[in-house]
Amino acid sequence: MARTVYVNGSYVSERNAVVHYEDRGYQFADGVYEVILVRRGRLIDEIQHLDRLERSLRELSISMPMGRPPLEAVIHETLRRNFVQEGIIYLQVTRGVAPRDHTFPKAPISSLVVAAKRRNWPASDSEPKGGLGVFVRDERWARCDVKSISLLPNVLAKEKAKQLGAVEAILVSDDGTVTEGGSSNVWIVDRKGALHTHPLGPEILGGVTRGVIKRLAEDAQISVVEEPFDRNALMNAREVFVTSATSFVKPILNIDGVQIGDGKVGPVTSRIFSLYNAHTLAG
Ligand code: PMP
Repeated sequence: MARTVYVNGSYVSERNAVVHYEDRGYQFADGVYEVILVRRGRLIDEIQHLDRLERSLRELSISMPMGRPPLEAVIHETLRRNFVQEGIIYLQVTRGVAPRDHTFPKAPISSLVVAAKRRNWPASDSEPKGGLGVFVRDERWARCDVKSISLLPNVLAKEKAKQLGAVEAILVSDDGTVTEGGSSNVWIVDRKGALHTHPLGPEILGGVTRGVIKRLAEDAQISVVEEPFDRNALMNAREVFVTSATSFVKPILNIDGVQIGDGKVGPVTSRIFSLYNAHTLAG
């Protein structure tokens, strides 16, 4: 069955889901996006995702394409029309269509695309599966807190990881600090069992999953330290994992061919995975 996509005011079949060649998203990557997890037909952490969307837009002086209640209605209608119970919502807003010129158009009308896709998510009793990581130089711009569609450095980093058989690129800035993953936040577990992750700021995207996991961990008496750490600290950690709305909690067992801890999925990572999985199932 052909998918239905919302494009600028209409629900159209996927094959007709096209944007104008002068959409500023297409020409300048002048836009932002969100990916929201869908489980049992419910949007997980919808409020935080839409808050982040509004923030990203505000930071770029792009207007919301519509008010929040109608936007929520479009998202739910897109889910309904595609019969998605388990999957994702992809949402993209750009500064709209205008004759090509770097400066902002006079009266821009934001473009909005909303798509729903089916995915299989882990069962309630499943265990996380580990994978390999690779270090990649963080070559991104200085506003990684904005969820921009300009993802070229992430694309190159993740392609490099894939070529090397890894599940994620671990991004490292020139001073050796581990910022985040190519499309995830990075966490380490220290000798005392505490979690460490990079603090919020322009160097990283404030992952919605990151925020949820911080709360779930603290509720479970696991301490969370939001301080920068470098690649040596990461290599000496007991456990390493990455998080995002769609990768859940992914253990990283080996980086650049060097084993992390005992090379197996660790107890803290397993626990965090279960807590997050339960959170998504509870809606
Ligand atoms: N950092 C980057 C660079 C990302 O692309 C993502 C996924 N969108 C994340 C972190 C995790 O964000 P979230 O938990 O909101 O999916």
